[in-house]
Amino acid sequence: MPAILTSRFLFGPGPGNAYPEAMAALSHPVIGHLDPVFIERLDRTCAGLRTVWGTANTRTLPLSATGSGGMEAAFVNTVSDGDVAVVAVNGLFGERMCEVARRCGATVVRVDHEWGQPVDAERVLAAHPAPKVIAAVHAETSTGVLSDIATLGANKGDALLIADAVTSIGGLELLADQWGIDVGYAGTQKCLGVPPGLSPFTVSERAFERRIRDPRSWYLDIGLLGGYAGAATGSRTYHHTAPVTMIAGLEAALDRILAEGLDAVQARHRAAGAALRAGLQELGLELFAAEGSRLDSLTTVKVPDGADSAAVRGYLLRNFSMEIGAGVGAFKDSVWRIGTMGPNASPAAVTLVLGALEEALA
Ligand code: PLP
Repeated sequence: MPAILTSRFLFGPGPGNAYPEAMAALSHPVIGHLDPVFIERLDRTCAGLRTVWGTANTRTLPLSATGSGGMEAAFVNTVSDGDVAVVAVNGLFGERMCEVARRCGATVVRVDHEWGQPVDAERVLAAHPAPKVIAAVHAETSTGVLSDIATLGANKGDALLIADAVTSIGGLELLADQWGIDVGYAGTQKCLGVPPGLSPFTVSERAFERRIRDPRSWYLDIGLLGGYAGAATGSRTYHHTAPVTMIAGLEAALDRILAEGLDAVQARHRAAGAALRAGLQELGLELFAAEGSRLDSLTTVKVPDGADSAAVRGYLLRNFSMEIGAGVGAFKDSVWRIGTMGPNASPAAVTLVLGALEEALA
């Protein structure tokens, strides 16, 4: 039998530590996916997701997929051969969007940015006169950068706006309707405080009407998934076996977040991000993401001269059972990524990670 790992402090880019309420719900008995108790649970989960997305979209559901599955669903339902997709690229996940859009047949117009910088809405909007979709990452996990989605939404014209909210949902301000997001996808394993495995997904009426009919993916076809979540018909129809236990975990975390209050949860993430940034600078470290665009849920910091990135991370894991993340791509050895998400968006968590890092660097 494999050894049971003692718990870790997950201060990396995700998964983060889950809320205890979510973990408790994961140990409940498995029930059928057509059980009335489950159907009510799915309805409540979709309602909770509407709140954290900031949307009234009826088609808001937990996709049975991770965040990348949500990304695939966003593109496969909106672009097909020859459709133009303008994609803002300011990190790894913008890159991934380009690849997914290309595989869906889109003609991709990528708008590259220096890593560490936010999306330049003006350049993105000027990149093509009539794109079918414009896509951007709200919170770039690879660089720790927050981008302005509202300006893209306000000026998108006839295009559909796709937004990646994997590292913002449930922790940072997210107003899908107000910002004009047509298709949004996210993940459970960051600020929502649930293990990885589901992708909170939302589609506006406008995007639903203009969706690709018979998209290349049967599993991710939003025309079929509306019935699965009960949104389109008012009654649930079988599409695939719902991951009943994961959805119980998500429901419990949403209950926990909404009981605390979404504003209070966001304030907790803002305070944790600010305290971590201040503490890192007090340790003499330099932040990586552009000032004014730093994520509160994930802080990027430069590895100081003379320190070995991997050795420090190894020290934290061995001595504190604590994970922080390495950088991505060209910044693999020169940047660390420190998440303060979900239950880890707290003063105690920030003190712990700062103290451990100080010891590791001594
Ligand atoms: N988009 C962003 C911004 C992410 O941070 C991630 C994962 O970290 C993904 C997409 C992909 O999500 P997943 O790894 O859950 O498939």
